[in-house]
Amino acid sequence: MSLQNKVALVTGAASGIGEQCARKLASLGATVVIADLNLANAQKVASSINESGGKAFPLVMDVTREEAVDSGIEWTVQQLGQIDVLGSNAGIQIVAPIESYTYPDWKKMLAIHLDGAFLTTRAAIRHMYDSGRGGSIIYMGSVHSHEASKLKSAYVTAKHGLLGLARVVAKEGGPRGVRANVVCPGFVRTPLVEKQIPEQAKELGISEQDVVKNVMLKETVDGEFTTVEDVANTVAFLAGFESSALTGQSIIVSHGWEMK
Ligand code: NAD
Repeated sequence: MSLQNKVALVTGAASGIGEQCARKLASLGATVVIADLNLANAQKVASSINESGGKAFPLVMDVTREEAVDSGIEWTVQQLGQIDVLGSNAGIQIVAPIESYTYPDWKKMLAIHLDGAFLTTRAAIRHMYDSGRGGSIIYMGSVHSHEASKLKSAYVTAKHGLLGLARVVAKEGGPRGVRANVVCPGFVRTPLVEKQIPEQAKELGISEQDVVKNVMLKETVDGEFTTVEDVANTVAFLAGFESSALTGQSIIVSHGWEMK
């Protein structure tokens, strides 16, 4: 599968899953924009991709800020001529039981996951329509787009919401060649998950080992974490898929934790 002559922008690409998605897309020939709140890390990832023969540009972007998203995507199209793939991936996690979940934390979670997905989609799809080339929009959902877990009210709400957004974008974008899909990983050992292990142990009153074994990986078929490579390969498959046969879908990559 080749992504030669394609331009991809991935949000939250300075770390974890987004970083590996950017590396994979670049390895298949795409020019990749590493869009992230953390410019220093975005620069490091872009340099590393460029040093290994790919083509990447760092871009500071807070996905919750309308002007930052619009101007970042405008910059991409001005500099690189187009945008063919959007990976809407930036995300955080805040765990707490619902009775003590603070309203600012709730709003922050929905802003990053849902406002970010909406704003980047709106800005990118305008260019995908204008170019007449269409494009592929890939949202980073989660098993929590289909499942619930304790302590994750805002995250589960937001990740379920992405399914709705993707389906609308698939319907609206279909006639103009824009596909929209959601990738739904199980637990992946990124900084986002490393931080949760001690937090969940404290909230649930169990050991960190039990959080991993009996909370995170309990329902998998083999007790294994999903890897950033597993997720990036799925994103690359969706980015390069040639037709609208595959749109409005969610693909679960979770060692069988969730089967649909
Ligand atoms: P991570 O913490 O490694 O990386 C997240 C990146 O997003 C960071 O570089 C951070 O700077 C960036 N970011 C945060 N807020 C931002 C904002 N407002 N604007 C732009 N960038 C911002 O996390 P990760 O585990 O790689 O998670 C990436 C995505 O994958 C998230 O949407 C997460 O919900 C999803 N996901 C993760 C897992 C997992 O187990 N790690 C499982 C399922 C889904």
